[in-house]
Amino acid sequence: MHEYSYLSDEVICAFAEAAGEDAVALTEPMAQHTTFQIGGPADVVISPHTPQAVERVLDICAIAGVPVVVVGNGSDILVGDRGIRGAVVLLRDNYAGIEVSGTRVHAQAGALLRDVALAAADAGLTGMEALWGIPASVGGACFMNAGAYDAATSDVLESVEVYVPGPACPDGTHEKGVVKRFTVDELAMGYRKSRVAAEGLIVLSATFALAPGNEAQIRASMDDYQRRREEKQPLELPSAGSTFKRPQGYFAGKLIMDAGLAGTRVGGAQVSEKHCGFVVNTGDATASDVCRLIERVQSEVRKQFGVDLEPEVRRIGEF
Ligand SMILES: Cc1cc2nc3c(=O)[nH]c(=O)nc-3n(C[C@H](O)[C@H](O)[C@H](O)COP(=O)(O)OP(=O)(O)OC[C@H]3O[C@@H](n4cnc5c(N)ncnc54)[C@H](O)[C@@H]3O)c2cc1C
Repeated sequence: MHEYSYLSDEVICAFAEAAGEDAVALTEPMAQHTTFQIGGPADVVISPHTPQAVERVLDICAIAGVPVVVVGNGSDILVGDRGIRGAVVLLRDNYAGIEVSGTRVHAQAGALLRDVALAAADAGLTGMEALWGIPASVGGACFMNAGAYDAATSDVLESVEVYVPGPACPDGTHEKGVVKRFTVDELAMGYRKSRVAAEGLIVLSATFALAPGNEAQIRASMDDYQRRREEKQPLELPSAGSTFKRPQGYFAGKLIMDAGLAGTRVGGAQVSEKHCGFVVNTGDATASDVCRLIERVQSEVRKQFGVDLEPEVRRIGEF
């Protein structure tokens, strides 16, 4: 028996049957699956390759009562130092097909937004240039409605295919354990929010509707956005991007800088001096360091400016 009763040998075998033995890793450090490079071990990480395997693994979790979290590129999560009890379904390279058809690009959830934008550029399709520097998977971008430079995922998203987790209902009275397609209008996407997040839907794939453009201009625009990112953001150090959501009427980074917090450290976690909106991992930061730094920043900004900073980074697991 595995240490956790709900993760019995039988359940682990069922994961391996559904996704393949190579797709199942026990006691896997999450630091290797997050851009923060922080996070203790998950009991089990499953990396399925097909939609059927994703659905089957999620069904097994629902039936066996195994808590489950889906992780994409891990660029917006802080995983606790004690790790994650239950299963992580990782949708990344293992589930990252991209197809271009006319002016539409269809991508599986684990494809990086960056690769979707590059495929679009190759096909002379415009619309994703401002988004391409966001280190999101397609699933994570739909969940967060990731955006930058006045553009958002919802501007170019046409529809998503989602899995509604939960045991299938034999008499069809509730819609769980089913695959559904939603158009962007049905997804209630706003600033860093979506129906995907609100209802715990699992994005399997997404279709982006783009417009014909000039390939050279598209690439020049992408280069320009990338240059702007490199100038402003501490891309040389691990982070999870903007630590806080934008408070109404303010910019989090400016408030933090004006509060005199640039460079403030707790253990290995530091408020970036290049962009105060980012907490960076200077090498050996723990999740606990990051949490304590976040609390310190929140308290100082509240004290000096009366503004409450809400974390954008999502905390997952045991701290
Ligand atoms: C250097 C840097 C720069 C960044 N710049 C930006 C920026 O400009 N704009 C911006 O919006 N964000 C930015 N971010 C944050 C981050 O890239 C986005 O929030 C992104 O959308 C997260 O995608 P992900 O695949 O990494 O999701 P993850 O971090 O893996 O997960 C985030 C949430 O999405 C859920 N999720 C992931 N995949 C799925 C799926 N298939 N189905 C359902 N739920 C899923 C997870 O359960 C989790 O709750 C930046 C991050 C970094 C490190």
